[in-house]
Amino acid sequence: MADQYNLGALPKRITGGCLCGKIRYEGHFPDNHDFKQNSGTCQCTQCRRSTSHLFFMWHKVPYSLFKWTASTDTLKNYYCSKGNARGFCGNCGTFLYWRRESGPNINIAIGTIDPLYLFGEGWEDSGGEVPKGGFGRALANSCGGHEWVRNEIPGVTDELELVGAGPRGRGERVEAD
Ligand SMILES: [Zn+2]
Ligand SMILES: [Zn+2]
Repeated sequence: MADQYNLGALPKRITGGCLCGKIRYEGHFPDNHDFKQNSGTCQCTQCRRSTSHLFFMWHKVPYSLFKWTASTDTLKNYYCSKGNARGFCGNCGTFLYWRRESGPNINIAIGTIDPLYLFGEGWEDSGGEVPKGGFGRALANSCGGHEWVRNEIPGVTDELELVGAGPRGRGERVEAD
């Protein structure tokens, strides 16, 4: 199923930020970036509580290609487990990312990516960078898999089409260290 998933146009970069706008970021994708393997979800209780949603949907990018583009004065990290940062804005509360600090990547919270990239809001003014409709399928396909599906909610999170796109329960890892 995952192999047939049509990603549509692929972005070279994304920008995003928190709800109040104090925190802004930009992430670039390497030429060989796998847009399927780097899109996934987690239903562990830690991710549920910190995102306050049924699951955390992320897109993973190399931390070396990720940068903050505004002040990080309000950026806070919360450590539920050692070495694993959950970033959020201390002003507006937006959850921004999960990151294993010893690892090479940052798992960006999908909902913080700018509307331009997610669904093409204002694409006409992007100078050709963003097509009509944006890059939502490339960014949020979740074909990379789903962690902690033993926490899935019967009849709810196990029946969502997006959650069905990738392998289920490939790892009960990462957050539970
Ligand atoms: Zn904020
Ligand atoms: Zn999790």
